[in-house]
Amino acid sequence: MKIALGADHGGYRLKEYIKSFLQERNVDVVDLGCADTTAVDYPTYACKVADQVSEGRVDQGILICTTGIGMSITANRFARVRAALCTTPEMAVKARSHNDANILALGGSVVSRETATDILDAWLKSDFNNVDRHGRRIRQIKQCALSQVDPIALYDTDPEIHAVLRLEKRRESESLNLIASENYASRAIREAQGSVLTDKYAEGYPGKRWYNGCTNVDRAEQLAIDRARDLFAADHANVQPHCGSAANMAVYFSQLKPGDTILAMSLDHGGHLTHGHPANFSGRLFKIVPYGVQRESERIDYDDLARLAEEHRPRLIVAGASAYPRIIDFPRLREIADAVQALLMVDMAHIAGLIAGGCHPNPMPDSDFVTSTTHKTLRGPRSGLVLCRDKYAGDIDRQIFPGLQGGPMMHVIAAKAVCFLEAKQIGFQDYAQQIVRNAQALAFTLSSRNIRIVSGGTDNHLLLADLSPLRVTGKKAAEALDRAGITVNKNMIPFDTRSPMVTSGIRLGTPALTTRGMKEPEMEKIGEWIADIVRQPDRDKTIDAVAEKARALAAEFPLP
Ligand code: PLP
Repeated sequence: MKIALGADHGGYRLKEYIKSFLQERNVDVVDLGCADTTAVDYPTYACKVADQVSEGRVDQGILICTTGIGMSITANRFARVRAALCTTPEMAVKARSHNDANILALGGSVVSRETATDILDAWLKSDFNNVDRHGRRIRQIKQCALSQVDPIALYDTDPEIHAVLRLEKRRESESLNLIASENYASRAIREAQGSVLTDKYAEGYPGKRWYNGCTNVDRAEQLAIDRARDLFAADHANVQPHCGSAANMAVYFSQLKPGDTILAMSLDHGGHLTHGHPANFSGRLFKIVPYGVQRESERIDYDDLARLAEEHRPRLIVAGASAYPRIIDFPRLREIADAVQALLMVDMAHIAGLIAGGCHPNPMPDSDFVTSTTHKTLRGPRSGLVLCRDKYAGDIDRQIFPGLQGGPMMHVIAAKAVCFLEAKQIGFQDYAQQIVRNAQALAFTLSSRNIRIVSGGTDNHLLLADLSPLRVTGKKAAEALDRAGITVNKNMIPFDTRSPMVTSGIRLGTPALTTRGMKEPEMEKIGEWIADIVRQPDRDKTIDAVAEKARALAAEFPLP
């Protein structure tokens, strides 16, 4: 047993006495001061001892000041520390056995040497017990600490930005988020992303950097690379793209010349801006041939895609979408690409988490390149990723650095490593499956209220509701739902006659609410509320009634 001891001037004498007492019992004592009765500040010693306990460098700590109060208050600010101020042996027994306390705080002017000896005896003989009952309460303490943590330095430096964060947190917790591209990253991911790694410049790749001092960040990046490759069974991973658009740009620039032809999903049918929008770099630099869905089935028209490939002989075929609710047939796309000697890139930004969780086929075996964001169903930090076959590894790495980017964001790369680790855990498969079940339950509820679902349902995390039969625009519906605390986005439906700023549809996705723990029963309720509102988007009474129920439901499912 290793115990760290600390005291201020008010606790110095008792500390010296306790030190001999412990040493006589063969306890390994680390004396962290103070050294005499000269006046000192108690937080200095409380921090030294609490830090050792928090980091696991000692088993327990003992802190003494005049009353023990300042010591216990300070020590309890450290993660994993449970400091208990004890004045009787009975309190010491309970502190160990019920609260799993790991620091004993004593008051030098409150307890005599004899009482201190009895307290110590009781403390050393007691162990944490009844792990079920008391363990549950310890977990609750941890949970409560996590939900309360407030950015203290930010409050002092910039109260206005602190207020933005506080309000955004409240908005997130009080509303129901059905934006298909959003999620709630775990606390571990946010800790990595908000960490000291933001300070480091590391142009280059692990082991080959321009700057010195990269040993630690090299390790973070290598972990992210290895985990990404493992998660998606990829030959090569580049984890440096700052976002999904940068990942797509890296693939295009590594393989194409300006003016080359790309066959990609039409934006009106679900494709992304970077798949050829005229205002985007993709549409401005390359010749884009769009493919789409069949009018009746509203599923990708693979025969037409093959015909277009034959006719236009693209250099690259891009698959993947921002608003397509069905499984994508990657082997079929590979066949089509091979028939015209085109490269195949799959942008799995939306479905990466479903792929990691085994709920959607993995595009990697059929593709030359796979790009992704890491913040949608994959639930990581806001960022991007490129995976590719070995033979393209050099092209991709050179294109990302120095071709497109300078210093990588090492804090975000570390957060991506955590994200890939989380996605490999068994619970993530359950999460991915629940996302899909939730989307299907939502689609079913809306259909049963006679709201038309594009393609008749969904195989993934999102669905598109066609509101044109109700003579309601997507814009109007999304605004009305927003007033009720249900966040969705307006979205074009295939063959939409309205502009992208108005639209005939809304897109609904379940990754975020599934992260909060919601399941089919909640989706049914939310589906009913959505149906009530989109049918009468101007009826304030309905909106107010739903707003109240939505807030109450959100309160039952806290953010991670
Ligand atoms: N690809 C697809 C399919 C997307 O849906 C998105 C974002 O919504 C992106 C790429 C671009 O991601 P980012 O916003 O990180 O640039």
